Amino acid sequence: MTAAYKIHEHTYDMVVVGAGGAGLRATFGLAHKGLKTACLSKVFPTRSHTVAAQGGISAALGNMSEDDWRYHFYDTIKGSDWLGDQDAIEYMCREAIPAVIELEHQGVPFSRTEDGRIYQRPFGGMTTRMGTGPAAQRTCAAADRTGHAILHTLYQQSLAHSAEFFIEYFALDLVMDAEGACRGVLAMDMATGELHLFRAQGTVLATGGYGRAYFSATSAHTCTGDGGGMALRAGLPLQDMEFVQFHPTGIYGAGCLITEGVRGEGGILRNAKGERFMERYAPNAKDLASRDVVSRSMTIEIREGRGVGPHQDHIHLDLTHLNPADIHEKLPGIAETAKIFAGVDVTKQPIPVLPTVHYNMGGLQTNYHGEVVTLKDGNPDSVVPGLYAIGEAACVSVHGANRLGSNSLLDLVVFGRAVANRCAETIRPGAPQPTVQRGAYEPSLANLDRVRNASGGTPTAELRLRMQRAMQEDAAVFRTPDGLKRGVERIRECVRGFDDIRISDRSLVWNSDLMETLELQNLLGQALATIVSAENRTESRGAHAREDFWEKDEQGNLKDEGIRRDEEWLKHTICWVDGDQTRIDYRPVHMYTLTRDVDVVPPKKRTY
Ligand SMILES: Cc1cc2nc3c(=O)[nH]c(=O)nc-3n(C[C@H](O)[C@H](O)[C@H](O)COP(=O)(O)OP(=O)(O)OC[C@H]3O[C@@H](n4cnc5c(N)ncnc54)[C@H](O)[C@@H]3O)c2cc1C
Repeated sequence: MTAAYKIHEHTYDMVVVGAGGAGLRATFGLAHKGLKTACLSKVFPTRSHTVAAQGGISAALGNMSEDDWRYHFYDTIKGSDWLGDQDAIEYMCREAIPAVIELEHQGVPFSRTEDGRIYQRPFGGMTTRMGTGPAAQRTCAAADRTGHAILHTLYQQSLAHSAEFFIEYFALDLVMDAEGACRGVLAMDMATGELHLFRAQGTVLATGGYGRAYFSATSAHTCTGDGGGMALRAGLPLQDMEFVQFHPTGIYGAGCLITEGVRGEGGILRNAKGERFMERYAPNAKDLASRDVVSRSMTIEIREGRGVGPHQDHIHLDLTHLNPADIHEKLPGIAETAKIFAGVDVTKQPIPVLPTVHYNMGGLQTNYHGEVVTLKDGNPDSVVPGLYAIGEAACVSVHGANRLGSNSLLDLVVFGRAVANRCAETIRPGAPQPTVQRGAYEPSLANLDRVRNASGGTPTAELRLRMQRAMQEDAAVFRTPDGLKRGVERIRECVRGFDDIRISDRSLVWNSDLMETLELQNLLGQALATIVSAENRTESRGAHAREDFWEKDEQGNLKDEGIRRDEEWLKHTICWVDGDQTRIDYRPVHMYTLTRDVDVVPPKKRTY
């Protein structure tokens, strides 16, 4: 039996864990539909990582040039390297248009065209006429602070509806019953250390990504994938974890993001010779090819000795040919970030950049209603009762093997809304709920006890650094069989190393040592799922690029084309983690659409 924690009990229709874009859109939608809803967040809502999103949100509004949601559908499938589920992609791209108009009506201060419409910029991989037309201008922007504008608006909307917030509450674990249904969540009030049991008919995980499993990431230090960690401990698998997106333009050294919008506005990548090398790799889209393609091209330039700087280990992003007035108006945040973190004046000097971990395509597998599904009794789409996942924590999968820029903010609002709509149909407000037996959360209390009192020899920061370095080195832009094998062993070592963790703060009041250790535990499970899934997938697809499945020239240099093996690998990976052990299975990709408004896009060669 664990220490006698006092547990406050609450009963809601719905509990949402996370107050980023996805969590807030779901929260106010659920409250608006008359469901009694609580939203928990470990940080103040408007400090969630969504606030940092810069470039914009995609929707085929056609405000600046010809566009159609079917083109967006095509581009997203191609961007996903055919691993995205086409029913969910159809849903997202069609719903994008009303979703963005809704944001506008709620008060998001979008930038405007001369005639007062929402301003839209080009983004990587976004084209027209099923890839045959010119680049699309599809990404709706509020200067280069779009996430900030959206998150604040969504928080205001949540306050306007009667959702209840539990701020600086840290969700520890899902509460599952013996039948495998989710009954709620156990959380800790970080200010007091008191525990709270939230019983609910439905629990929505909107906890964001796990970028901090890597050493250099654009995401906030709070992006520790707690929802994924909770799911793994509840015995649920995670999907497509091998697909980790590197953004081409993180600031060299600091890792802060320079939005793709910079290239959308005309910025150019250059190597040490000053050459616009993307013309060689992607003759049509050039600097606006999709992110995996650009990141790999930059890596090849550096490997072949054409990197810039004294160590020839990075690339230049050049804006000096742009009109300073345009930079001031459309990219003010970027100019400031480059000044502070790279010490450059973007109107006069190029920005030093390097591909940096940015987004997790993998996560909790869901259908397009946001319901978590799993493989059960041979059914790959079996719904887990009472559990939902949205946003970066989820894998719907609309992004497949590679997400297109500006499709994440879209995913947040579209599927946040979808969950609210689904629950309004399936959940009766105030319906009685079974009592939760202590046994359902006893393992969570035991884990908390163990971590709180951990007195081993390894400080949390030391183990975290070991994990981050292993991931950075062995699950990188290009992956090798030896590196992956070594990486799996290194991460397994780290997972076992958690048994020797040491916490020095024993109090329960604002114990950041404890919180960081629980976050590390969540990261470790996902790091293991990522590297094991990567070693297992013997092909190159989207962001998963293996040198042993890559075209090479006579000298053994990498060419710009990976070897995708559809006959064997056109399927989602699902991975269970139990301690340092893993198990892998597969789910079919949904190669069908919801309506006849679009045709299935069959796999073909992916060139830009
Ligand atoms: C720098 C940067 C720029 C980006 N720019 C763009 C862009 O221009 N366009 C685009 O489409 N995408 C962009 N992205 C990607 C996109 O912003 C993210 O994928 C998205 O914001 C994630 O939103 P989310 O709601 O899923 O999670 P987050 O915004 O990360 O929020 C997670 C929430 O979960 C809560 N939480 C987590 N764990 C717990 C726990 N244990 N207990 C309680 N609460 C918890 C947190 O407090 C937080 O409220 C960008 C990402 C980064 C990092």
